[in-house]
Amino acid sequence: MNPWGHFKTITHHKLLVMIYCFRVGLIRQGLLHDLSKYSWTEFRIGAKYYSGTHSPNASEREEIGYSTAWLHHKGRNKHHLEYWMDYSGRDFQMTGQPMPTRYMVELCIDRIAACKVYHGKAYTDADPLAYLNRSRDAKLMHPRTKAQVVEILTMLAEKGERATLRYIRKEILSHPVACYANLPDQAEHPEEKDFAFLNGDALKGLANELETPFYLYDEQTIRDRCRQLFDAFSWNPGHRQFFPVKATPTPAVLKVLREEGSGVVCSSAAEMELCRACGFEPDEILFMSNYPEKRDIKAAAALGCPVILDGPGLTESYAELGMLNHGVGLRINPGGVFRFGLSEAQLDGLKFGFTPDGAVECIRELQALGVTSVGLHSYLSGNTLEPDYYPEICRSLVSIAKDLTARTGVRIAFLNISGGLGIPYRPEDRPLDLKAVAESVRTVLETETAGTPLAGIPVYTELGRWVTGPAGLLVTRVNHVRNGFRRIAGTDASASNLMRPMMYQAYHHISAAGKEGSLERSPWDVVGTVSENTDKFAADRMLPELVPGDLLKIHDAGAHGYSMGYQYGGRLRCAEYLLGTDGKARMIRRAETTADYLSTMIF
Ligand SMILES: *Cc1c(COP(=O)(O)O)cnc(C)c1O
Repeated sequence: MNPWGHFKTITHHKLLVMIYCFRVGLIRQGLLHDLSKYSWTEFRIGAKYYSGTHSPNASEREEIGYSTAWLHHKGRNKHHLEYWMDYSGRDFQMTGQPMPTRYMVELCIDRIAACKVYHGKAYTDADPLAYLNRSRDAKLMHPRTKAQVVEILTMLAEKGERATLRYIRKEILSHPVACYANLPDQAEHPEEKDFAFLNGDALKGLANELETPFYLYDEQTIRDRCRQLFDAFSWNPGHRQFFPVKATPTPAVLKVLREEGSGVVCSSAAEMELCRACGFEPDEILFMSNYPEKRDIKAAAALGCPVILDGPGLTESYAELGMLNHGVGLRINPGGVFRFGLSEAQLDGLKFGFTPDGAVECIRELQALGVTSVGLHSYLSGNTLEPDYYPEICRSLVSIAKDLTARTGVRIAFLNISGGLGIPYRPEDRPLDLKAVAESVRTVLETETAGTPLAGIPVYTELGRWVTGPAGLLVTRVNHVRNGFRRIAGTDASASNLMRPMMYQAYHHISAAGKEGSLERSPWDVVGTVSENTDKFAADRMLPELVPGDLLKIHDAGAHGYSMGYQYGGRLRCAEYLLGTDGKARMIRRAETTADYLSTMIF
C-alpha cells in the first residue's frame, strides 16, 4: 500500500502528457487526460499494488485474473484503443475500430510519457516504437489506426521529438488525411482489385467455350513473379528457391517454375513422382516431411535427393537408407514467442521442428555418421504481409547457427528461410515489396555474420503462395439468385473446389466479369453447392447486382486452391487451364468425371 508513491507516479505521467498535448494544440485533452485515475475505484488499486517499476493493473490481474481498475479506466478514456472496440466484420469478432485522429495522437503521447516515466534517464526516442512492437494490444488495433501510430512513432525514432510534435500539430491534426500516408491507396477503392489478369469480355468469351467452374492460371504472372524473386535475392550467389509442391501440384505450372530456375520441396512419394515426371532432377527436389510415412521415406531414398529432418528420431533410419549423402538440413523451432514487426507467433504449440537442444543432439548423431555440414530451416508463420518476417527469421537462424557451431563444431551449409510470405488477398492489404524484404535479409545477414565462417552463406527460400497465388483464378458461374433474409448468389463451384474460405474463413476477392470496377454495390452472400452452411465464398460482400449466368472470378486462388480440393458431397474436382504467353488458354488438367469418382469404389 503506497498511496503517495502512486499519486506521484500518475501525476508525473499526467503532467508530461499535458505538456505534450499542449505542444500539439490538444488543450482540453491535455487537461482531462487520465482524470479517472484519481477516482476511488482506480486509485485504490493503484495504491494497493504500487511498485514503481510496473503497472499495478498487471499485478491486480495476476492476483484475481482481471483488473477492475482497468475495466473502469478503459471505458472512460478515449485515448485507449480498448475504448474503440466493437464486434465487427464477417465473424463479429471483437476488434478495434478506427480511432478519431485526436485520440490516436493522445494514444501516442500517452505511450511516449509512459516510456519516459518507466525508463527514466535510459529513455530514448526509439523506445515508444519498440514498446508498440512488443505490445500485444497492437494486434487489436484497427489497421488504419495502427498505420497512423506506426508512422508517428517511427518518425519519433528517426527524426526526434521536435520534428514529430511539429508534424503532428501542422500536418496530422490540421489535415487529418495526411497521416494516411502509410496506407495503400487502393484501400479507399476496393473495386480496383476487381481486375485480374483476364477480365470482362475476354474472360466471358473463354468461359463460353469451357465448362465452369474451372481454374485459370496465367503463365506470364508466374514467370514475372519467379523473376522478381530471383532478382530480389541476386545479391546472394548461393540463393535457391524450392517451390512447395503442395501449393499447386499441376505439371504445366511446375514445368514453368522449373524453366524459371525453381526447385521443389516435396513431402510425399506421390509429390516426388510428380516432380520427376515434370523433369526435376534429384538435386532440385528437397524432401521434407513432418512425420514421414515409410513409403515416403523409401521414395526419397530411391530418388537420392537432399532431405530436411523435421524432428528427432529419423537419423538412424535415414542413414541406413543412404539418405544422408545428398545434403541434410534440420528444421528448427526456437520456441517461445517469435516477434516480427507488429506481429508475433506462439511457437510452443507448433508440431514442427527440433528444439535448439534437440538439434545439438541430432547433429552429434549425424557427426558420428560422418556428416560434417548441415543446413538450417525455419518456417514460423504463414501468409504474412509483415516485411520484417524474413529478416527476423534470418536473424533467428543466424543466432541458432552460431550456437550450434560453437557447441558441435558443425559447418552450416545454408539457411532455408522457407515460405510464408503473404499476398494482398484483401483490397486494403499492401503487397510486400520483395526486393526491399530481400535487401533487409541481406543487411541482417551481412551485419550478423561479418567476420564469421557464416559470411556469404547461401539463403534458400520455399515461397509457394507468394509465387503462384495471384496467378490463379477460380472461375464460376452464378446459377441461382435468391432474395430472402439475405441476398444469395448460388454458384456452380463449392468448397470442394476452393476450401480456404470454409476452412480458415479466408478472404478471397470476388468480381463479376464485365462488371469490374462498378461503384454500385450491395451486400451479397456468394455460396457453393455443398450442403453445409459454411460453404460460402463470401458473406455480406459488396458486389454489383448479380443475375443467373453471371461469371465470377474468385481471385488469388493460384496456391493452396485446387490442391486442397476433395469430393465431399459427390462434388468433383474441376479442370485447370493455363493462359499461355501467346494469349491462348490450354487445358492442363481435365475435370473429374463420375467414372473417376466411382473408380476406387468396390461394389
Ligand atoms: C507449405 C509449405 C511452404 C509454403 O508456404 P507458402 O505459405 O505457400 O509460402 C514452404 N515450405 C514448406 C515446408 C511447406 O510445408
